[in-house]
Amino acid sequence: SLVYEDICALGRKVQVSSNKAPEPGLFGASVTTSRAEIQQDFKAKGFSSFKGKSTGNNTQMVKVLLSLSECPPLGLESLKVKDTQLKASSFKRRGLGPHRGRLNIQSGIEDGDIYDGAWCAQYRDKKQWLEVDALRPTRFTGVILQGRNSIWSWDVVYTYKVQFSNDTLVWTPCMNGTEEAVFEGNQNAETPVLALFNTSTVARYIRINPQSWYENGTDGDICLRAEVLGCALPDPNNIYAWQTEPTESKDKLDFRHHNYEEMRKLMKSVNEACPDITRIYSIGKSYTGLKLYVMEISDNPGKHELGEPEFRYVAGMHGNEALGRELLLNLMEYLCQEYKRGDQRVVHLVKETRIHLLPSMNPDGYEMAFKKGSELSGWALGRYSYEGIDMNHNFADLNSVMWKAIELETDKSKLINHYFPIPEQYTSEEAFVASETRAVINWMQNIPFVLSANLHGGELVVTYPYDMTRDWAPREHTPTADESFFRWLATVYASTNQVMSNPDRRPCHNKDFLRYNNIINGADWHNVPGSMNDFSYLHTNCFEVTVELSCDKFPHASELPVEWENNRESLLVYMEQVHRGIKGVVRDKDTEAGIADAVIKVDDIDHHIRSVADGDYWRLLNPGEYQVTASAEGYFPSTRTCRVMYEHYPTLCDFRLTKTPKQRLKDILARGGKIPKDLQLRLRQLRLRKKKNQRT
Ligand SMILES: [Zn+2]
Repeated sequence: SLVYEDICALGRKVQVSSNKAPEPGLFGASVTTSRAEIQQDFKAKGFSSFKGKSTGNNTQMVKVLLSLSECPPLGLESLKVKDTQLKASSFKRRGLGPHRGRLNIQSGIEDGDIYDGAWCAQYRDKKQWLEVDALRPTRFTGVILQGRNSIWSWDVVYTYKVQFSNDTLVWTPCMNGTEEAVFEGNQNAETPVLALFNTSTVARYIRINPQSWYENGTDGDICLRAEVLGCALPDPNNIYAWQTEPTESKDKLDFRHHNYEEMRKLMKSVNEACPDITRIYSIGKSYTGLKLYVMEISDNPGKHELGEPEFRYVAGMHGNEALGRELLLNLMEYLCQEYKRGDQRVVHLVKETRIHLLPSMNPDGYEMAFKKGSELSGWALGRYSYEGIDMNHNFADLNSVMWKAIELETDKSKLINHYFPIPEQYTSEEAFVASETRAVINWMQNIPFVLSANLHGGELVVTYPYDMTRDWAPREHTPTADESFFRWLATVYASTNQVMSNPDRRPCHNKDFLRYNNIINGADWHNVPGSMNDFSYLHTNCFEVTVELSCDKFPHASELPVEWENNRESLLVYMEQVHRGIKGVVRDKDTEAGIADAVIKVDDIDHHIRSVADGDYWRLLNPGEYQVTASAEGYFPSTRTCRVMYEHYPTLCDFRLTKTPKQRLKDILARGGKIPKDLQLRLRQLRLRKKKNQRT
């Protein structure tokens, strides 16, 4: 075995400074260990990479040792640890059972909820414990503790002890030299506090044993949420193979958390590897000046091609919901690699679609959460913009504009159902709109997106618009005119995601979305005015859903390969949905020129879309037969039947519109030309008919 592993077993904290040699006793032969050897061992421990740069340098070696001495989380938060692996000395009631003692778990609203916000012991003495069965010999290196999540109660554990066992009969305490170690717990209910053990211990079971807690007369229970850090011991004889969940991906991607600088580097490297199909651009800046980078992937980057639909993924609008960011970085690497390899599915997708990936809409928030790290950033740190704005409530509320108009307007034919303009008060300088939100709105207005998804984290569910309820109900099913297609879109992602679609999974926090097949109307979950999805649907042609990717907002780096595996198919198949329904070009019958801004109306669906600059349009639709009408100013409208099939390509439905005589006259007059005979005749006829009609 490698020497550095023995040192790691000491689990000692080493002060690292670049100009001072580390404690001499710690090194010995490890300096000569080859990089390849370390890397191999690192992989065996479930890490995907290590940051040491050279093995000849003492300082670098210490860094490797330190990251090894801090083992990854067992997965109380990520649910990798199952409910059956958690036990407790006692619990107050079912909703506060040991299975609720997970870092960052969120309680339901009601007091007495079956999904409550911690494990709480039934008794209040120093003999209470929460036990975790790691299922196999594990080197435990630390515990992360958090108080109870509740709006009604305040419960925190101030100090605690830790015990280990191999059989749950004999327990040995975690020591600090010759004394039993007492660890600092929490001072508030939400901030996670890490305690690293002085000596790491190999065992199968670990107990967290509270010693002091908030007490106030009859208030103050022993309640906690926790995560345990531990490395499963190497298993050379594959004794535990049957219970080992996969930790690897078959794809060779850069699986780690990328901060702003590292994200830039990765995007640059993808661009250099695939210069013909990629382009990096920025849509604006965050409050602190970080750029909002987009990776465009298409066979003709930088150009809109006639008939080719535009797709976007947006991640990280809540900066601490970090998985979406990494998945989009994975996705760009993957598309580049597979395109070069000639993977037909990817080649087809890239050639037929213009894909835009925005991995970080809120880079300021992300940097805050990243600095604390995946386990210690808690539930809300980094969610908001630097100014404290929640970007998912920050888009112009067009729903209210629409609903007010429906209430007040007696002539229904005067109501609009799409392309709602942004209210003036929203665009004013004083409006409290984040620069990031403004940048995304500009982006939406400049590129004719057809389909999008907004990647979040902290739950496992796909939500579709509307996100806002009518009449301010806290929660109410509020469908759009495209309800059935949105349900299809949400289902496409949810049913192909390997975690969501697992019928045996337990709910993340306080709502069982499995009961709804992991999809829900946004407003039916909770009311969100000013959401990006609603804005996208009401202001542009683009349909957008929200994907909540995982129970854990900021999964540990070691989880990233598996999360990619869980989501790869969903991310691909969702993008392919941009090719459903009908598409075509609206042209002038005489000149064949494309007509921009033509309105495409589908009978029975009270939501129109419009053609873009060259007259091309896309109308997402489920299979079926539709009466479709194209109309444009100065033209006679034209209606035709378009049939949508089950295949993965759209039905072509082109329109050729005839100019109205009035418009032809206008055009001629504008050019200063002479009016041809046939048009004079036609106009006279029209005038006569009009007069006649007025008389009757
Ligand atoms: Zn979110």
